Amino acid sequence: MLEILHTTYIRTFSAFPQVTQPHPLLQVKLFKDRDEFRRCNRGVGWAEAFYRTPVCHAYYSAREMNPYQWMLHEAVHQLNTEVAQLKLPQWADEGLAEYFSTSQIRNGELRLGEIDRNTYPIWWLDDMALSGDLAKDIAAHKIIPLRTIVTGRGGPNMNEEFNLYYIHWWSLVHFLFQFDGGKYRESFFCLLRDGVTETSFERQIGSLDRIQREWCEHLQTVRKRLNALPPRPAKPRKLTWNETRELEGMEAQILAAEGEVARIEGLFASPEFHRTHAAQTNQLITELAEAKQKLAQL
Ligand SMILES: [Zn+2]
Repeated sequence: MLEILHTTYIRTFSAFPQVTQPHPLLQVKLFKDRDEFRRCNRGVGWAEAFYRTPVCHAYYSAREMNPYQWMLHEAVHQLNTEVAQLKLPQWADEGLAEYFSTSQIRNGELRLGEIDRNTYPIWWLDDMALSGDLAKDIAAHKIIPLRTIVTGRGGPNMNEEFNLYYIHWWSLVHFLFQFDGGKYRESFFCLLRDGVTETSFERQIGSLDRIQREWCEHLQTVRKRLNALPPRPAKPRKLTWNETRELEGMEAQILAAEGEVARIEGLFASPEFHRTHAAQTNQLITELAEAKQKLAQL
């Protein structure tokens, strides 16, 4: 899959001389599954994969309809840095990663821009409840103004609204590649090459006011198209920050309950048991049963 991404990426950015030149091998640390990934990378919070120069850390997500999405996302960050050598603001780096990782994989091909509904953040699009009136949606904080996205200044708190930010970053890049038969694609490449700033954005692509209108129109069109498709089966989705904290709290409780069961079973198994704990036998049997019951409930 990563080879397919690599080929697609090189083809997409073939106008960049550094992309078509040979580059050092890219490193990936691949974990067997989510459990192994999380056990070996305790400090990663809610991340499902991560890129830390020069290694992409990822796992195969067998429980998801699209098992590659997290891996591809991080690998695009790696390609942006190590192959295209781009210096990007967050919206463009994340947006490119999302643009590739939300594309459909069919017959061994990554079909750029053809959206896979079973990927993050696409599964959040349904929750946007847009009125279609741009000024109203901005006032209601359902749409983040383009200027805020491009400059990275102002806007809602990123920790509280990260799904909303990811939707904006993804849709802006999808728009720049796909809108109106791809009319901004070449200018977007120039923008990436020039350095992405507010000024270069307006010079290469167009005035922020006009582009904001077209981009939101594009987002609405895409949402309508996706909504018109038959309903998809319930999917695992990326958890919110609070849900993850809750889950991690539960993991801690499970570990504690497992520890308690192991501690009591250890006492029973000890050759010294009769000498040290005989008097507490009944109490320990009860405690063990309680600990096992608690574990079963978690
Ligand atoms: Zn990312």
